[in-house]
Amino acid sequence: DKAHIGVTGLAVMGRNLARNLARNGHRVAVHNRHRERTDELLELFGSEGEFVPSYSLRELVDSLERPRRVVVMVKAGGPTDAVLEELVPLLDEQDIVVDAGNANFEDTRRREAELAERGVRFVGAGVSGGEEGALHGPSIMPGGASSAYRDLEPTLRSIAADVEGTPCVTHVGPDGAGHFVKMVHNGIEYADMQLIAETYDLLRGVLGHTPAQSAETFRSFDRGRLNSYLIGITAEVLDHTDERTGRPFVDVVLDQAEQKGTGRWTVQNALELASPVSGIAEAVFARSLSGNTELRAAGSGLPGPRGARTPEREQFVADVEQALYASKIVAYAQGFDQIRAGSHAYGWEIDLASVAAIWRGGCIIRAKFLDRIRAAYEQNPGLASLLADEDFRQALSGAQESWRRVVATAAEFGLPTPGISSALAYYDTLRAERLPAALVQGQRDYFGAHTYRRTDVDGVFHTEWAGDRSEHEA
Ligand code: NDP
Repeated sequence: DKAHIGVTGLAVMGRNLARNLARNGHRVAVHNRHRERTDELLELFGSEGEFVPSYSLRELVDSLERPRRVVVMVKAGGPTDAVLEELVPLLDEQDIVVDAGNANFEDTRRREAELAERGVRFVGAGVSGGEEGALHGPSIMPGGASSAYRDLEPTLRSIAADVEGTPCVTHVGPDGAGHFVKMVHNGIEYADMQLIAETYDLLRGVLGHTPAQSAETFRSFDRGRLNSYLIGITAEVLDHTDERTGRPFVDVVLDQAEQKGTGRWTVQNALELASPVSGIAEAVFARSLSGNTELRAAGSGLPGPRGARTPEREQFVADVEQALYASKIVAYAQGFDQIRAGSHAYGWEIDLASVAAIWRGGCIIRAKFLDRIRAAYEQNPGLASLLADEDFRQALSGAQESWRRVVATAAEFGLPTPGISSALAYYDTLRAERLPAALVQGQRDYFGAHTYRRTDVDGVFHTEWAGDRSEHEA
């Protein structure tokens, strides 16, 4: 009997994805560059379903029914190209290769075009949810030809996370659309984590909360509208006691956040698209700065505030919840704005409501909140910003005074809140009737004759700043 689908790359993610497929009744051919991982998978989990071990890509390909479906789950970048180089010549027209790794969407666009020339269908699928997600149901974001998606859809639906009967998988769009959306997902994840971390820092720095007390506060947040996977794990981490020292775990971990690159990609792409994802950028920079020991050493000893009035506890906790929620709305609004911009720039026609829907389960940013985003885009697919949605407007209107108090308190206490503060700045920028951008235009015209437009008449103008300061149409 031929296998329904093959998986090559059996590290944590590939192994768990293969197990998930087998557990859901698919006959899975499995392969890894070094055979030990294949043997280990069979030895430890062989009883979970039907696995067909393969010790070369040729064997893997030969064991598959047609059209062949091969999932590549190896280290992103060069290793993926190396595997494709060996794999693709073994395939026939109409066969499907799914790259389920964290590929850069530009690479996916290139690979999709290259494979299409040989008649092989390439699907770049973002997969989120970590090891646990891969095993029990991830959120899957496939991009590529519709015909390939149609072929894969029943299989993908059977292994994806499920929210109220709806599997967390949808055809995101052509070529790189899936990996693009996965990239922005990770960017939003960075922003969300940073906002939560700032909230913890405020509870501690302003109210003197212990990590365990903060854990309790996050648990209470988790029972409300902030209910999410990230808030839940935050409480778990804060509550954890280090075995070695008996101290709170967060107090013994080096405070230098690392990154694997998807946040940086998101910001780089946002700069290209001129999509202002300040929350994601602040989160990426906050990680970079945390790890920059040279700058931190240079800044150590700089004076901080001489004293600040401690706000009333219950009020401050309530304010912080409002500030976190409002900032989160901004972070997601920015991320969805980037997807909209990318979709437009690359001609993908991504349905934003479906993206919100498949993020409700399986992935790292899964949250109750995403259902509201789905509803907002379902009601109005052309929504220019989530901030313009009536429900979110109301939430922001209810939150904004608390939000301002929190940012003011953070400044008074000398606690850095780049995420929360920049979110408020974004909100106030969108709200503003007039922006000081008018002055920037004046400055540009002064030193570079860069010209400006006027509010009252059409046309492009320049003022003779060095001369008689008369205005000319440029
Ligand atoms: P790794 O990213 O650590 O990759 C290890 C796998 O890649 C092994 O199977 C390894 O084979 C294979 N590999 C590396 N180089 C080559 C090569 N030149 N040729 C053939 N195979 C190669 O594994 P993960 O399971 O963590 O992740 C797999 C993919 O999933 C990555 O793209 C990752 O970014 C993505 N991902 C990971 C998540 C996570 O939580 N870890 C979440 C979502 C996506 P060998 O055993 O022979 O060395």
